[in-house]
Amino acid sequence: MEDLIKKAAKDLAASKDVVALTGAGISVESKIPPFRGKGGLWEKIDPMEYAHIDAFNKNPTKVWNVLLKDMKEIIDKAIPNDAHKGLARLEELGILKTIITQNIDGLHQMAGNTDVIEFHGTYAWHRCMDCKNRCKSSRIDLTNIPPLCDCGGIYRPEVVFFGEIIPPEHLWRSRQLASDCDLMLVIGTSATVQPAALMPHIAKESGSKVIEINPEETPLTESISDYLILGKAGEVMSSIITELERLL
Ligand code: NAD
Ligand code: ZN
Repeated sequence: MEDLIKKAAKDLAASKDVVALTGAGISVESKIPPFRGKGGLWEKIDPMEYAHIDAFNKNPTKVWNVLLKDMKEIIDKAIPNDAHKGLARLEELGILKTIITQNIDGLHQMAGNTDVIEFHGTYAWHRCMDCKNRCKSSRIDLTNIPPLCDCGGIYRPEVVFFGEIIPPEHLWRSRQLASDCDLMLVIGTSATVQPAALMPHIAKESGSKVIEINPEETPLTESISDYLILGKAGEVMSSIITELERLL
C-alpha cells in the first residue's frame, strides 16, 4: 500500500486535469452509512421499497418515516473527514478541477471544493410536490411526517430517486469532464449505479489514468482502474496528500 500511495502522489503531481468521482464510501468516516457493502443500509431495507420514486409517490409517509427522516438527522450532524479535506487541498493546489459526486450530503462543498457536480441531487434543499416551492432542508420541520408546505403539499428532498432521470446538464458535463481529464480518482463508490459508473469507463477510453480508493474491489478493479489503493478514503487520502506535498 505504501508504494501505491507514493505512486498516486507522483501521478497526481504529474497531472494537469484531475477529476474525482465520489460515492457513499467517502462519507462513511463522517458516520453516514453507505447503501451497499458492510454496514450498508440495503442490509436493513429494500431499496425498491423505499428509494424508488414509485414507492415515494405511493406512500410518502412510509418513505419519510423509514428512510428520509433518519437520513436528514444523520446528514445534519455530519462534517467532512480527511478524504473530503484532501480533495479540497487538491483543488487549492491547482491539481483537481471538479468533483462528480453521487452523494447528496454536501460535505465536499463544506470541505471547500468549489466545483461539485451533484449527480444525484442534494439533501440540502427540499421542494413541494404540488406548488414546487423550494425550501432549505434546515427549515423543514419534521415534527409531523410527512413535512408539509404552506399550500398543504408534501415536501420531498431534491435528490434523484431510483426511477428518476439524472438532470441532463449534469450528465452532459460529467461525460465531457470524464473524456477531457488526464486522471480520474474514483473514491468510495461500488460503481454499480448507472449512469455514474460509466464515467471511469469514459475516462479510461479517452486515455486517462483511473485510480481507485476503496476497502473492497469493485467491478472497475482490474478492468478499468490502473490500480486500487485498498483502504479507507480518509486514511488513504491524508497519506497521499502528505506524500504529494513532499514532492511539490
Ligand atoms: P454504495 O453504497 O453503492 O457503495 C459504497 C462503496 O464505498 C462500497 O464500494 C464500499 O466498499 C465503499 N466504502 C465503504 N467504506 C469506505 C471507506 N471508509 N472509504 C472508502 N470507501 C468505502 O455507494 P455509491 O456507489 O455511491 O452508490 C449508492 C448511491 O447511494 C449513490 O447514488 C448515492 O446517491 C446514495 N447514497 C449517498 C450517501 C451520501 O450522500 N453520503 C449515502 C448513502 C447512499
Ligand atoms: Zn406547496
